[in-house]
Amino acid sequence: MTLRLLAEVSPQDLLVSLSELQTHVHGYIKSMALKCAVDLSIPETIHRRGGAATLADIVADTKIHPAKVPDLQRVMEVLSTTGIFTATAGKDSGDPVYGLTTACRFLVGYRNLSPMVPFLVVIMDKGRIFRGLSSLVDVGGGHGAAAQVIASAFPRIKCMVLDLPHVVSQATASDGNIHFIEGDMFESIPPADAVLLKNILHDWSDENCVKILQRCKQAIPSRTAGGKVIIIEMVRGSSQGDSKINEMEVIRNMFMLSINGVERDINEWKKIFSDAGFSDDYKIMPVLGPFSVIEIYP
Ligand code: SAH
Repeated sequence: MTLRLLAEVSPQDLLVSLSELQTHVHGYIKSMALKCAVDLSIPETIHRRGGAATLADIVADTKIHPAKVPDLQRVMEVLSTTGIFTATAGKDSGDPVYGLTTACRFLVGYRNLSPMVPFLVVIMDKGRIFRGLSSLVDVGGGHGAAAQVIASAFPRIKCMVLDLPHVVSQATASDGNIHFIEGDMFESIPPADAVLLKNILHDWSDENCVKILQRCKQAIPSRTAGGKVIIIEMVRGSSQGDSKINEMEVIRNMFMLSINGVERDINEWKKIFSDAGFSDDYKIMPVLGPFSVIEIYP
């Protein structure tokens, strides 16, 4: 059957298609190689060496066991072929010298694969979003990474972070201006001029999002008094026609399935805002393609 289906296909198309299929089948290898490089702090190693490092340099800095050097070489080969590192032939030996692509620069200094603080820096750069606020609560703010960035750029804002007790107990924020509060966003949110929800709502069903937003509404003053909810999330479909971005959106949405979450498009967002009783004149500011800041008002 398969042979008959493929009978008309040219050898060139067969090769391209087989490569495509093999790349899909082994797609997880890219994720594993990336995790390995981040765990070994290879982006930092290359950065510290002025943006260029040979395999020997990386071996010296990561102190990996000599028996594992050929394995590391394969990891570097995968990641330099798939757009994470660059590789150029060294002048003398011809051996590859690895450098950082822009994608990789997001990872310098981060031990996890969710480099969202640089994203926040981009937002702060563009935004009048936080200006004029006297207090802000980052709901589900984890260990306070986003609140730190905001508190240092806007020292006059009283920044609070609300998260579950087991998360707050692990927080070690260095900025004395941040107040950590243990709690449950479904129960109560401390009063503030603005509530920040960064990568929270995509974890929850529409029904739970409405509940969270209703709690947010109770925590903020009226619109005329400056009350607002700032949502940092993906808005799907805002970069239509770009196949790379589209692929990223559908893959993230598929990933969210594993935690019963969802990445939403504008109509799905709108419905949640209106069901939670917010005004329809929300503002969407696309920051980077689908990654957006949405401001909603009571
Ligand atoms: N805002 C952060 C973290 C997002 S992960 C960021 O953008 O990186 C989701 C966060 O929501 C986690 O820190 C989790 O502990 C918190 N969370 C989950 N359920 C919660 C609840 N009921 N009340 C408060 N925080 C909650």
